[in-house]
Amino acid sequence: MDKPMKQYEVLQWASLFLEKHNRETRVAELLLQHYLNVTRSHFFMTMREPVPNEIVQEFQKAIKEHAETGIPIQHLTGCEMFYGRTFAVNKHVLIPRPETEELVQHVIKLAKLAGKPITIADIGTGSGIIAATLALELENATVYATDISKDALNVAKNNAKQLHSKITFLQGDLLQPLIHNKIKADIIVSNPPYIAREDAAIMQDTVKAFDPELALFAEENGLAAYKQIIANLPQVLKEDAYAAFEIGYQQGEAVKTLLKEKFPESEVQIHQDINKKDRIIT
Ligand code: GLN
Repeated sequence: MDKPMKQYEVLQWASLFLEKHNRETRVAELLLQHYLNVTRSHFFMTMREPVPNEIVQEFQKAIKEHAETGIPIQHLTGCEMFYGRTFAVNKHVLIPRPETEELVQHVIKLAKLAGKPITIADIGTGSGIIAATLALELENATVYATDISKDALNVAKNNAKQLHSKITFLQGDLLQPLIHNKIKADIIVSNPPYIAREDAAIMQDTVKAFDPELALFAEENGLAAYKQIIANLPQVLKEDAYAAFEIGYQQGEAVKTLLKEKFPESEVQIHQDINKKDRIIT
């Protein structure tokens, strides 16, 4: 029988394989850590330890698939971190992006300003990252989450259960389920689909191939979901309420105009993400 490979040897093999296929070699560490099911610090202390053969095989299979097809590792591991917690993901939901953590941070700030128990609704919840994080970070908040996709809602429900966060899930298009159930919120938060169809040509192939179309694209130059949400906001907002949306980096002014037309008295702010791109509007 072959001598089991040591952890650093397994990584060396993977790095070479990834390099040959022009993929980022960092993926090797993340993926092997996942298959070994250990913490990051533990992982770096066991470099000279042998890795069980079954794990090497599983890992090598995943590395080959990623190298050859570009499938994001989150689809191989079935999970992604968001705001320090692990969320299950699959092909029915958008893979959580780090920019969305900043949206959540803004909502937490707004919620704390309110200084009272509030109701929050996450529109187009996908994997449920926004709703679940808010429910866990804000003890006194009542959280609703909507999505048009039943498959996405199943992922979100499962995540909420795993993380012990209390959320009421409603299926339907954007704000419709809230309107239908006569629910009003203090904060409406959403990371809706906002990419213009015309921009598909300049997108990364792997995003196009593996993130659900429904989660990515919107008509009217990517603004359709904002238009529909903003048009219906008065029906679902309480007095002195807030809306917080993630936006495309070139959509700040357009979404600001939509908000100002509907709510001339309101104060609209555009916030930038860590890459200094417009990313959030409140
Ligand atoms: N709310 C989810 C997220 O932020 C899904 C967003 C979407 O599918 N557009 O990841």
